Amino acid sequence: MKVIGIDTSCDDTSVAVYDTDKGQVLSNIISSQYEAHKPYGGVVPEIAAREHLKNIEPVFLAALEKAHVEVSDIELVCVTNTPGLLPALLVGFTFAKGIAFARYIPFKAVHHIEAHIFSPFIKKQKIDFPFIALVVSGGHTILTITRNFKNHTVIGKTVDDAIGEAFDKVAKMLGLGYPGGPVIDKIFKEYSGEYLELPKPQVQGVSMSFSGLKTAVRRLIEKGHPKEQIAASFQRTAIDYVVGKLRKAIKETGIKRISVSGGVSANSYLREKLSELEEKEKVTVYLPDMEYTSDNGAMVAFTGYNLFKLDEEIGDPFTLNAYPSIPLTGVR
Ligand code: ATP
Ligand code: FE
Repeated sequence: MKVIGIDTSCDDTSVAVYDTDKGQVLSNIISSQYEAHKPYGGVVPEIAAREHLKNIEPVFLAALEKAHVEVSDIELVCVTNTPGLLPALLVGFTFAKGIAFARYIPFKAVHHIEAHIFSPFIKKQKIDFPFIALVVSGGHTILTITRNFKNHTVIGKTVDDAIGEAFDKVAKMLGLGYPGGPVIDKIFKEYSGEYLELPKPQVQGVSMSFSGLKTAVRRLIEKGHPKEQIAASFQRTAIDYVVGKLRKAIKETGIKRISVSGGVSANSYLREKLSELEEKEKVTVYLPDMEYTSDNGAMVAFTGYNLFKLDEEIGDPFTLNAYPSIPLTGVR
């Protein structure tokens, strides 16, 4: 079966074609709106929606062309319907419904965070449940116990900013541009000096907090420390902190399989720390390929298809809508 996956939840217009018989992603086209939002130092919802509207059809056609498939070959359309910027979500969601309606094929709505959780498994034949999922993205930082494609228990999350948001805000404060994660990571890789001590936020259990780190960074800027030193120290503290919480979750649950996903899962120091964790704690960490770390249609197609199978191959009703925020456990 050829499945389409569409995501327009934030500032990337993404469409993928997934071949379920081969278990292979045939194309995964991502059009970034980076330039449109750059002057504002962050994503502007109305601009995002307008850009999606402009990009969705060409991106869709490019995905078909790269996959060498026709619209008539598509048998299922999967699309993100929550969470995200509503004007942005609606573009992809309406487009997906339109294709399904016109072609008399089912469509399946996908929770964006659920899609991130399964992004490390796109090329796997089999997923062993349960596993712990750590999602580290631009809008979320959560830890779950995931028991199947639609059964997640959130065991911990950030009480304030998301980790990706903290990377972006720190980069903005340091005048490093947007998005901040890749720039800070690059500086970190090139940095060889001493690290500054940043206070690790004290939050109970496996809950997390990142807004205090921002304040600590502001103080270091005021004290006149070099940008590179602040950026590298921030990355080290934020990642050590999140890995510490993950280690705690492993100890508390006894679960030895871990999925780590979302934009920040591209981080070089996080990946280094996770491989150390694998050795020390005798656990297996599943990470997405780099192209599936930030938003992409492939993870939506993969997750949507598996939900479709789980729901006895019945698509979602056309009356279903898109929503800015639905908690992970109450997905549909
Ligand atoms: P959400 O998935 O929570 O709705 P989103 O879709 O905007 O939010 P993603 O696309 O998953 O988030 O991730 C984007 C975030 O990842 C940004 O905050 C970006 O700075 C961060 N990021 C990307 N690459 C890196 C990196 N190498 N190191 C750290 N952070 C990174
Ligand atoms: Fe995302």
